[in-house]
Amino acid sequence: MPTPSPAHAALAAAFAEAFGHAPEGVWRAPGRVNLIGEHTDYNDGLVLPFALPLGVSVAASRRDDGLVEVRSLQADGTVTAPLSGAPGDVKGWAAYPVGMARVLRERGVGGATLLIDSDLPQGAGLSSSAALECATAIALCDLHGVEVPAAELARLAQRAENEHVGVPSGIMDQSASMLSTAGSALLLDCRTGLTSNVPFAPQDAGLTLMVIDTRASHELTGGEYAQRRAECEKAAEILGVPALRDVKDLPGALARLDDPVLRRRVQHIVTENHRVEATVGLLRAGAVAEIGGLLLASHMSLRDQYEVSWTEANVAVDEAVRAGARGGRMVGGGFGGSVIVLTHTERADRVRDAIDAAYAARSWTPPVFLTETAPSQGARRIA
Ligand code: ADP
Ligand code: MG
Repeated sequence: MPTPSPAHAALAAAFAEAFGHAPEGVWRAPGRVNLIGEHTDYNDGLVLPFALPLGVSVAASRRDDGLVEVRSLQADGTVTAPLSGAPGDVKGWAAYPVGMARVLRERGVGGATLLIDSDLPQGAGLSSSAALECATAIALCDLHGVEVPAAELARLAQRAENEHVGVPSGIMDQSASMLSTAGSALLLDCRTGLTSNVPFAPQDAGLTLMVIDTRASHELTGGEYAQRRAECEKAAEILGVPALRDVKDLPGALARLDDPVLRRRVQHIVTENHRVEATVGLLRAGAVAEIGGLLLASHMSLRDQYEVSWTEANVAVDEAVRAGARGGRMVGGGFGGSVIVLTHTERADRVRDAIDAAYAARSWTPPVFLTETAPSQGARRIA
């Protein structure tokens, strides 16, 4: 059993205070950042996320009365719900842990009392939702002595989010949170579900990977995201392939598409899959700094071909490069959210100052820099 850290001890104490008895353990699952492979997931392609040191912790004790009781230090109120309930009868944040418990019930897992705590910003594209599901999942399985392989737990967590929260998310977030290992990124083939760990430890190479919340809103994403998916499906249909993943001859495919918009979308998806493979090759060769150019190429493709970037992201990436960073790109669906920047650590302050100054000169809301980004261990018991 790991030695509890002060933070875990505080969560256990908060649990005892809230529920009148000590928890049986504390479990934790991380948030994630996708290093490269953007919008490739729904084209049956490749993604390369890694787990952050930030995550969601759950202190829990077993129950055998068919109920799950959840409270969060980041939300108001306690929610108690039957494991047998139907999707939709629990609304808001509690739908994530309750939905997880309901999906796991099919595997013979029972209920629990859960207290949730997190150091991960919510709704910032760092996947606090998957971290919450995965921390809940491993807590419940451990408490009831049920062993479910981690890759399967990731799929069950995705189902919890799809069916019980109503968010049609892919498998990347839960896979990254469940399956990542420290010092690695996780190569995930979204067609086969196969994963492998790829060495990624920028700090050991004198590099820093910064995650920068551009503070630009996400509001347009819904419609634009659905539109991009539809465009990809249409292009795949015209090209007679199951998914854009299967396009092997790019010039040939582009020549068969009359619509310039579809041509741009195909160009991005096909080249982005290659960029993931090239990134994996460089990382396996120990050439971490060299992936900067691929991050930049990904950014330009997302900006110019896929047309999902936003002004604040473009300025952050441009300024980072001007200040000497190795590369960077927008991450996530687009139209708001975060960018990542890879820089030699000795230039990190200069890069940060340059981005801050560029935002200030435009009177934009200052960006938020996340510095704790060392690729970390996936979901695990911590106390
Ligand atoms: P992201 O996964 O990018 O952070 P989502 O919108 O998918 O954004 O998930 C965020 C939601 O997850 C929150 O609105 C909340 O319902 C739930 N959530 C995440 N962390 C917590 C927490 N610590 N306590 C309660 N709910 C949480
Ligand atoms: Mg999420």
